[in-house]
Amino acid sequence: MANSATKARGDYYEGITCYALTHHSAEECGNTPEHPCPVEVIKKTKKPYSVMHILYDNDNTKRHYKVNAYPIFDNDGKLIQVIESLIDVTGEILAKEKIKNLNIELEQKVEERTQQLNEALNKLQNQNDALKNISQSLEISNQNLEKSLEKEKEVSLLKSEFVSMISHEYRTPLTIILTSSELIEKFLKSNELEKMPKLIERIQVSVSDMEKMLEDILLLGKSEKGIINLKNKQVDLIQIINELMNTINVYINGKREIILNNHTNNKTLSIITDAYYLKQIIQNIILNALKYSAIDQPVIIDISSYSESLIKLEIIDFGMGISDKDIDNIFEPFYRNKENIGSIRGHGLGLTIVKKLADALNIQIRVSSELEKGSKFSLFIPLSNQIESPR
Ligand code: ADP
Repeated sequence: MANSATKARGDYYEGITCYALTHHSAEECGNTPEHPCPVEVIKKTKKPYSVMHILYDNDNTKRHYKVNAYPIFDNDGKLIQVIESLIDVTGEILAKEKIKNLNIELEQKVEERTQQLNEALNKLQNQNDALKNISQSLEISNQNLEKSLEKEKEVSLLKSEFVSMISHEYRTPLTIILTSSELIEKFLKSNELEKMPKLIERIQVSVSDMEKMLEDILLLGKSEKGIINLKNKQVDLIQIINELMNTINVYINGKREIILNNHTNNKTLSIITDAYYLKQIIQNIILNALKYSAIDQPVIIDISSYSESLIKLEIIDFGMGISDKDIDNIFEPFYRNKENIGSIRGHGLGLTIVKKLADALNIQIRVSSELEKGSKFSLFIPLSNQIESPR
């Protein structure tokens, strides 16, 4: 049937098949999936059938056809003929392909542009981030600058306060020295020599007060600058306390009672620290305990193990005590509770030095006190100058 149709093309000649002529194919239509034979399909289905075929013209140009095939049946319902109509849709298909290609090209271009845009955006974002970082670090350095300027102001204010405090503290012993020497001069002239020793003693006490204050100020200055030179070595804490007791006994001349309780049951307590500065810390606290309590009140020194790495050393007195309001200030330079201490000598630097040295030796200090009842200074001393906080 199909072969008879090809006759119409004029180039038909006997022996050539329709599939060789129209599809340039060696395969019979129906054997290839792209060219199912409409006649064969209708033979099986008995229904009209439409399919797209690629056909070649007389001049061999490839064309697209929509093949519509209709079955013709006789009165008995037997298939006797198939009518095929071919619609050339090449133009439509080529236009669609062109549009498709254009679309692909367009999509590619859009993708390329989007990529270029993203790259430009990323670059901008990076530049923005870098600018942000720069402005942040500028802001931080500005803040730091402001802080250090403020600190500098504070320090110079403190320095001038410190200087005026020192000169104020120096005025009292200097006045005593001056008036005593004037009196000495006067009594020398009037030959009242019996009045001399008292005046000379006053001068000596004032000079030693000034010496002590100078020593304290120098030590404080060193600790402020962080130039305390620690000579850490293995020492025996019990021995240090015994040595201190000997020094203090000379000072109190047997007039005061100091009770030493060693709760560790060890005759020696080996620690690694700077013995010179540790002695200074303990001595300042013991001397205060003696100073700020009555002559008949004892001072107790308790030594116990606080943890595997900390020794607790407590210095307890039953003296005037410190109010809650004052307890936060006692480590401040030149702070003295003038309401309570009356004429007790001192210049308010002892505990400041204690705190600075304790920090350098990793010693924690706790103070508990009650007015009229007494005070307890607890030192937590590391066995090997390692930082560990008490619970
Ligand atoms: P100073 O004893 O030379 O005044 P410190 O720095 O040693 O200076 O002490 C500061 C202040 O803390 C003292 O003036 C006193 O008011 C108070 N203080 C220190 N230790 C005691 C104590 N054991 N009992 C009562 N008050 C104390």
